Amino acid sequence: MQTEQRQKIPILQHQVVVFSKNYLPLAHINIKRAIVLLVTGQAETLEFSSTQQWEVRSPSVVLQISDHIRLTSGNPERHWKVPPVNRREVFRRDNHACQYCGSTKRLTLDHVIPRSKGGTHTWDNVVTACEKCNSAKGDRSCMKPQWC
Ligand SMILES: [Zn+2]
Repeated sequence: MQTEQRQKIPILQHQVVVFSKNYLPLAHINIKRAIVLLVTGQAETLEFSSTQQWEVRSPSVVLQISDHIRLTSGNPERHWKVPPVNRREVFRRDNHACQYCGSTKRLTLDHVIPRSKGGTHTWDNVVTACEKCNSAKGDRSCMKPQWC
């Protein structure tokens, strides 16, 4: 008899974030689907500092699954609907730190190429920036981070 007490969510009920080959977050999927993508070589696990990992065993395979995976095959954007830019997910992607100075306070979203100059509100043009850097950058399309 197993007396092990488990308060955690069962592994197979976890959600995994899928990123495209170009590191765009695409969707949340069920971990079972993630396992299929990993086993069939269509995806690889990604490791961030916040990554959670689970070990899934079958009689012949031991899989390390993290809560972020990246598709390895091309053009997934065609098959997946890219979600609209979401403040919370951008902060999460950027580790809740200003991408110019590293500050973790008073965070805002900055358009790398300003919207006034044709910049788009898309994942590859939006970064986390603190209020100070955001206003210092203003309408310029580039700013040297402090560490440069
Ligand atoms: Zn900053």
